[in-house]
Amino acid sequence: MKNVLSLLLGLTAGLAQAQPQQADSVFIRKIYDETLARGKSYEWLRELTKQVGPRLSGSEGAKKAVVWSKELMEKEGFDRAFLQDVMVPHWVRGAKEEAYIRSGKQKLVVPVAALGGSVATPPKGIEAQVVEVKNVAELEKLGTAGVKGKIVFFNRPMDPTKINTFEAYGGAVDQRANGATFAAKFGAVGAIIRSMTTLLDDVPHTGSMRYGTGVPLIPTAAISTNGAEKLSSLLKENPALTFFFKQNCESLPDAPSHNVVGEIKGTEKPDEIIVVGGHLDSWDLAEGAHDDGAGCVQSIEVLRVLKALGYKPKRTLRAVMFMNEENGLRGGIGYADYAKKNNEKHLAAVESDNGGFTPRGFGIVGTAGQKKQVMGWKELLAPYGLQEIGPGGGGADIGPLAQQGTALFGFKPDSQRYFDIHHTAVDRFEAVNKRELELGAASMAALVYLLDKYGL
Ligand SMILES: [Zn+2]
Repeated sequence: MKNVLSLLLGLTAGLAQAQPQQADSVFIRKIYDETLARGKSYEWLRELTKQVGPRLSGSEGAKKAVVWSKELMEKEGFDRAFLQDVMVPHWVRGAKEEAYIRSGKQKLVVPVAALGGSVATPPKGIEAQVVEVKNVAELEKLGTAGVKGKIVFFNRPMDPTKINTFEAYGGAVDQRANGATFAAKFGAVGAIIRSMTTLLDDVPHTGSMRYGTGVPLIPTAAISTNGAEKLSSLLKENPALTFFFKQNCESLPDAPSHNVVGEIKGTEKPDEIIVVGGHLDSWDLAEGAHDDGAGCVQSIEVLRVLKALGYKPKRTLRAVMFMNEENGLRGGIGYADYAKKNNEKHLAAVESDNGGFTPRGFGIVGTAGQKKQVMGWKELLAPYGLQEIGPGGGGADIGPLAQQGTALFGFKPDSQRYFDIHHTAVDRFEAVNKRELELGAASMAALVYLLDKYGL
């Protein structure tokens, strides 16, 4: 008898579980239909990239982007749209950089771009001999005797054998972030860094760098990969060649700026917040389409789609446009500070900052139980190409929320083309595919829907 009863109970439990699963798969289908047939993210991205344009922290473009996104969220009829004040670094590139390799009578111009945060060269530029290294260990081996008065050329390529290109980036980006500091320790006068891409081309990739304490601030720039190959091969022929570069960048005093937040109030648990976001700032060289205009418009689209479908969230949903991810993270840190100050409970945060490419899944940072629960939704998400759901990166902007125990989700699109355009002049609207962008927005909306419905 006992066995029959437990069997019956088991069956009913199974049925009860099956019901919402069926309803969920129907609703998720509706999310994709709305996003793919009537989506707005692509046209919004066109406006953000073409009408607003580059928007490095502290720039006029960044100011315009704040106004643009707040007005958009008001127009879409979210319950509220508001700004959070943050102070941001204000670095400006100045006149376009110049660089050439001088070997004997030959003078070969190469494309470079100052790294964000770098100091300028003297007004007439710097010309010096070059030492090429692949890493800090090689630099240490050369020591002051081999480096003093020279330009250090960091030329370790991103590892092309990594399937996830973010891993390859992670394995090379120390050169960009800290190269100038290490070079300065040994008396170098400048640092030139091979661009962070596996592609061979003539486009320099900028990005942030940081000076360590106690060493002179020496100018540093990224050189295109073709330029790096050329410099390396010419150095083999003529180790005494010289490299010239001139840049005019400058750090101005911190500037006032904002995160932009749009919100739909929860109907049952309004005090529990689910965030979906991207960063509004971009590098100054281009339109910041994949990085991270895509993540911004996808996040706003998540709220629009759920609203358009008449979905009344249990919890409060927020689309957050973080300011200053690229060179300071003041927006992400500020957002978590405000949350703490206002006693806001953030259940989950989803970030899209890996490009607007074909969705593959989500990385989860949370407890074992939370991971298990979300991985249990795989069947609902797999039909849409979301196969990679498991432990992994959250995101820079939502990272500071981990302090309050928020579960973090990093949207994972296909990574193969991201570093072709990352932080360059070719990260333009035209580089984004409408369907891929929309599929990403729908994937994020499906995850937000499940997080809202079931909690964590
Ligand atoms: Zn980014």
